[in-house]
Amino acid sequence: MERSKEELTEFISRMQEQQQKLFKQAKQLELTPESVRDVLYELCENIALIMKADRVSIWLFNDDQTTLTEHLTYAADSVAIPSIQQLDATHALPYFEAIGNNRVNSVENIATNKALQSLPTNYFSNSPITSLLEASIIMSRGIGGLLCCETVTTRNWSKLDEVFIASFADMLSFVFDRLNRLEMENRVHELAYTDLLTGIDNENAFVEKVNDKIHKMEHELYGAFLYMKIDQFTSIQSVLGPEGTKSSLKVIANRIRSLFPDNSIFARIAFDHFVIFTEHDNDHEKSKRAMEHILSELRKPILIKSHELFLTFSYGVSLYPEHVKDSYEGIHAAKIALDSSRRMGNRKTRAVYEPLMFEQWEEEMHSEMNLGKGLDMNEFRLYYQPQVESLSHKVTGVEALIRWQHPDKGLLLPAAFISIAETTGLIIQIGEWVVSEACQQLNRWEQMGLGALTISVNISPRHFLHNSFLQFLNDCIHNYGINPGKLIIEITENVAIEDSNLVELQISKVQEMGFSISIDDFGTGYSAFIYLKRFSIQEVKIDRQFVTQIETDSKSRAIVRAILTLAKSLHMHTVAEGVETEGQLKRLEELGCFEIQGYYFSKPVPIEELNRWLLASPRFPFLYLPRLPA
Ligand code: C2E
Ligand code: MG
Ligand code: MG
Repeated sequence: MERSKEELTEFISRMQEQQQKLFKQAKQLELTPESVRDVLYELCENIALIMKADRVSIWLFNDDQTTLTEHLTYAADSVAIPSIQQLDATHALPYFEAIGNNRVNSVENIATNKALQSLPTNYFSNSPITSLLEASIIMSRGIGGLLCCETVTTRNWSKLDEVFIASFADMLSFVFDRLNRLEMENRVHELAYTDLLTGIDNENAFVEKVNDKIHKMEHELYGAFLYMKIDQFTSIQSVLGPEGTKSSLKVIANRIRSLFPDNSIFARIAFDHFVIFTEHDNDHEKSKRAMEHILSELRKPILIKSHELFLTFSYGVSLYPEHVKDSYEGIHAAKIALDSSRRMGNRKTRAVYEPLMFEQWEEEMHSEMNLGKGLDMNEFRLYYQPQVESLSHKVTGVEALIRWQHPDKGLLLPAAFISIAETTGLIIQIGEWVVSEACQQLNRWEQMGLGALTISVNISPRHFLHNSFLQFLNDCIHNYGINPGKLIIEITENVAIEDSNLVELQISKVQEMGFSISIDDFGTGYSAFIYLKRFSIQEVKIDRQFVTQIETDSKSRAIVRAILTLAKSLHMHTVAEGVETEGQLKRLEELGCFEIQGYYFSKPVPIEELNRWLLASPRFPFLYLPRLPA
């Protein structure tokens, strides 16, 4: 179709005008699919005018590119909007292949086009369409959709038409990429504050909301922290199995929620552990009666899968401001009250916190474990778990994980002693021991010709922010002569609870010395989102909970995709933790995760065992790890 020079000039200025409008919209912080809809509709209308088309529509792919859904259509009076709003790849493969392989798909006569024949027969039936021209909307994650122009009369589309439609599609890429990015950021943010199983708040949200309330109301606030636990939880698990347990937890969570006043704050913080912060008017008798009423309501049977569950709850209470000054202390004190009463042999327990309990608890923990002696007697060990590159499965490094060879209790995992080490302060000495060991191991590998391997170490927030940490790292570089680039320091998101200016400063100082920083258990912690925005970090480790569900749960998959895309756009390295199956590995590789760590390749093993494998690698010193025999 010939166009006059005047016509072309006018079209180009219209295009620029549209571009400007879109750009303005896309820059807005509160951009939402709804807010951008009108602008897109106007764009389609203008495209119809410029392209002399009768119908212009935008179609978007789903995450797996298996379906294409109509997003928005402008249709001239003579034609209707498409009669089908969703196309499925399994039923229209040639068409999906055609759009996947060509930047622009130009069809003069739809009746004779092979790929279009694979569309459902009624797709064109409600409109007299004969020609179409479509261009892919190419987004950062691949082809995200299509811009499609259709005409009633047969049309031999020109090269100029193709250039036009491709430019319009590029404008759309910009808008949809921005929308996606905002949606992902929201998802990651939501994730940090929601308990995925029940959909209620998690501990992070609880801590933040309660502290906020305390901060705002301070002297006018009287409240109680309740740490609740279901007494019959083990029986629920054995009778109902994992799925039934999950659904019963949802029902229980909803019931607890409904019994407390609306202004209480409620979260699930461990499998069957719930915390509640509820206000009271400083009348203890009245509060006690209210609590008795709630507990009797909770005792009413719950029906799950034709089982009637009769449940009772134990709880510990701590009071604000009598016992505690913020939500951390509140949760901790209420839990201590519950635990100390249980230790005294009470099964169904309602215990109110007393300060003496804390001292007892601390003393018991300390003497029971005697961590200091463990350090003196050299009872700690490092186990190493390999990290392999995606696709090639080449070993790039290991994570060092601490174990305690306890004289009476046998080999202890970190869960048994790290939190005690944190409360007693011994975590600093333990952390220093871990880093020193790791440095010596780097040197040994260097001598064995394995100098390319990195070691990741876990550093507790308290240690990371301690004023001795930088000097200690400096001493390590001097004493062991290591290349700091080989040591990766893993910190969890919880570090951000502390003063974030201090965290930012500490991160940058550690990086200036040449060490890399990795965020462990990403997505589960306090403020995943803040981390990525605020701190420049080298690596993100996606938490096992998302990896475990990546094949079965589309939400987890979407979260992993969101984290990977975000990390990639910020030039961060990504590692997936807890990969146990081939299916999980495949998914992560498809999604473009850089590195994999998990039982699929190897459990954490003692150094001798790891070295044996590494040296047995058929292409030593290029280490391709065979799978560990089951
Ligand atoms: P993390 O740093 O997230 O370490 C990963 C944990 O997941 C390890 O547990 C590892 O054994 C386990 N794991 C790895 N792959 C798989 C898998 O495929 N399936 C399953 N089910 N689990 C897998 P571990 O060794 O018990 O360590 C637990 C946590 O203790 C670590 O989590 C880390 O936060 C902490 N930790 C370990 N070593 C140290 C240390 O030296 N210092 C400090 N402060 N914390 C440590
Ligand atoms: Mg770790
Ligand atoms: Mg982890």
